[in-house]
Amino acid sequence: MNYKTPKGTKDILPSDSYIWQYVEDKAKTVFNNANYKEIRTPIFETTELFTRGVGDSTDIVNKEMYTFVQKERSLTLRPENTAGVVRAFIENGMHRYPSPVKLWYKGPMFRYERPQAGRQRQFHQLGVELFGIENASADAEVIQIAMKLLDELGLKNLSLEINNIGCPKCRNAYKESIKEAVSSRLLEFCTDCHLRFEKNPLRMLDCKNDKCKELFASTEIESVINSEFICEDCVKHFSELQEYLKVLNIDYKINKRLVRGLDYYNRTVFEITSTNLGAQNAVCGGGRYDPLVEMLGGPHTPAVGWAFGMERVISLLPALEEKPLDLFLVTNNTKKAFELAEKFRKQGISCDFDLANRKFQKQIEKASKCGAKFAVILGEDEISSGVMTLKNMQTGDQQKLPSFEDVIKAVSSPV
Ligand code: ATP
Ligand code: MG
Repeated sequence: MNYKTPKGTKDILPSDSYIWQYVEDKAKTVFNNANYKEIRTPIFETTELFTRGVGDSTDIVNKEMYTFVQKERSLTLRPENTAGVVRAFIENGMHRYPSPVKLWYKGPMFRYERPQAGRQRQFHQLGVELFGIENASADAEVIQIAMKLLDELGLKNLSLEINNIGCPKCRNAYKESIKEAVSSRLLEFCTDCHLRFEKNPLRMLDCKNDKCKELFASTEIESVINSEFICEDCVKHFSELQEYLKVLNIDYKINKRLVRGLDYYNRTVFEITSTNLGAQNAVCGGGRYDPLVEMLGGPHTPAVGWAFGMERVISLLPALEEKPLDLFLVTNNTKKAFELAEKFRKQGISCDFDLANRKFQKQIEKASKCGAKFAVILGEDEISSGVMTLKNMQTGDQQKLPSFEDVIKAVSSPV
């Protein structure tokens, strides 16, 4: 039998995992510095959490969920993590924490999609959720954190698009206008759009179908999209967000067709795209979802967040060299090697040695093959005279050093 990874999934091999660790380390630093705390939620939840929390007019819920029944309970592998984080927020009474509650997460998500470049069935997201602040300063902060992280990772050619899709107060009239604008030609839209028409006409604007996109151009819808439909409070929120972005020197474009993800987004939605990606050019998506906590059974709590696709971000990273092993111990005295390796590791020096106790020459070759910066050679001579021979694996230079501290100093100083 030839076992293979299931379609749409990938192993992350040792030759790549250091890149993942690099992204995760950078993220951890950026989040910690801004006082965001990590949250880890289960990778499966009750199915209803997603049908309600993501919304049944979304592709995620309608087509992409991995659902299974266990003891008559329907469970789903998480397709995204906002619903799970909101569930945890409510279940753990986090609305009683000092506001705002600023959280981040990372981990695998599962969507039954057609695998292609930039699209997998198990992929990874990194994201933040900020609870408790209605003011546009919260939207600005989460956008700032996303841009900061992507910038620190060295990503270039990114563009930020923002929109304000209104609030429950003003959006209903907008939805009705969209319905009116497309209704005479509804039959020509795709079947998914028929469902969206009934459940959430706003999501029709997000349709990827070429025919639907064409239809938009030829219906009244363009003028509806371009109309100023949002209420005074939403206008104020949107202009405040823009003021903050200007102060933060973050470039943005307004895209009035941007609606995005969850059914329960309100006001701010945004997306960061890269011109260096192909068809799947969205790196990061997010928005404000003020009604969601209450909808899932909690007290009214405004919230805003985003998620980025780690595979897509990693595919955009500039070339990155793996940090080499600091030193390889070459000795036939395995017990001594254990003892010394532990001493080096305690000093933060990465260190390895030959567990198979091969001949000296083979061990030197191994030190070279595994890319170690230095080899410490400990033959019988060295052990009896209490010195260590330090070999610089790049230059081949060797020197005898009288103490452990001297070796630490030599290994730690830049080559
Ligand atoms: P897309 O338009 O690419 O389908 P989306 O709107 O479904 O994206 P979100 O649900 O907002 O995406 O997820 C946020 C980010 O997660 C996306 O911007 C993307 O980088 C990443 N992502 C989403 N789905 C996948 C997938 N199937 N494989 C890899 N990355 C993904
Ligand atoms: Mg998608």
